[in-house]
Amino acid sequence: MQQTEETGKDDLIVIAGAGGFIAGSLVRYFHERGFTRIRAVDKKPLGDWYQRVAGVECLSLDVSQEPNCRRVCEGAAEVYNLAADMGGMGFIERFRIECLRSVLINTHMIEAAWRAGAGRYFFSSSACAYNTTLQKDPKVRALKESDAYPAMAERGYGWEKLFSEMVCQEYWAERGMKTFMARFHNVYGPNGTWDGGREKAPAALCRKVIEAKDKNLDTLDIWGDGTATRSFMYIDDCTLGIDKIAHCPQLIATPINLGSSELVSVNRLAEMVEEIAGVKLRRNHQLDAPRGVGGRNSDNTMIRRILNWEPHIPLAEGLAKTYAWIADQYARRKAGKPVVRDTI
Ligand code: NAD
Repeated sequence: MQQTEETGKDDLIVIAGAGGFIAGSLVRYFHERGFTRIRAVDKKPLGDWYQRVAGVECLSLDVSQEPNCRRVCEGAAEVYNLAADMGGMGFIERFRIECLRSVLINTHMIEAAWRAGAGRYFFSSSACAYNTTLQKDPKVRALKESDAYPAMAERGYGWEKLFSEMVCQEYWAERGMKTFMARFHNVYGPNGTWDGGREKAPAALCRKVIEAKDKNLDTLDIWGDGTATRSFMYIDDCTLGIDKIAHCPQLIATPINLGSSELVSVNRLAEMVEEIAGVKLRRNHQLDAPRGVGGRNSDNTMIRRILNWEPHIPLAEGLAKTYAWIADQYARRKAGKPVVRDTI
């Protein structure tokens, strides 16, 4: 860990959402740093988790239910809540109720963490908490932390994040539990969803290009006209950033951006995937598909100032690793071997 004096290597760390992409990688991250007592939880059956780390206690429990949260947080020194019903634009624009209902997860998890006497609580917020009226133009001004208010978050998913941030802030203000919040900007990498409807743009484009190569297709479907811009953070920057943020005294109860500031258009992202794959496909822009805000980037002034660090892994480098992992998953599925697959 980066800066803690309080959490020992044998203290219990609880990580929720661990059958999924980011929390699964966070389990591995802490395990590799020598933490001996990690409790991982997810509502998915254990066989469907993307990553299972030997020696880690894994529980298949629904943490939107209060009794399960009490069981999960028992004895915890630190609690990381990354469980949420979520996906790419195709999911969060269509299933707003499911996204809003994730409020139950944070509400019960934070109370259980506090009752268990946990020293720290981390909540994974999102850039979707930012005011959407600031994100209409692809030539965006990067979003800084104060841009969340006056609030006009992404309907459903974004409002849940903004409300849950406020809950975290009040547990510090009223009850003195140290809470930490990072607003993630599009995270990508191996061991994440790449198929089934919840996948995000980098994984979806990798899969489509791999499929086109495999089936000798010459077109690539792209949602929208491709001019929308985003930044994408590789998973290793994300796990390191979570650790740094959750152990920084200046960041108690203070939401902070955790994202790359390398801005690209969706068209450029597609080109980068083609370059990795060594193909060039005709574009089929699907103009009625969900596409989200016009542009979004992370202003990293605050994270640089406070942590003297920011996510820095180049998109081309992270994308190549992600492409290779998805290609392998694709080949395994084609060969009838088991793959992990998230379906709505
Ligand atoms: P993911 O879907 O891969 O992982 C989330 C996990 O939470 C899933 O495995 C799911 O089964 C689990 N879960 C959902 N409801 C649960 C419940 N009631 N009880 C137990 N487990 C439950 O998503 P991810 O990309 O790993 O995202 C992790 C967190 O980061 C989420 O809070 C998400 O909103 C946030 N986030 C992610 C991104 C991104 O680009 N991936 C961007 C911004 C914020």
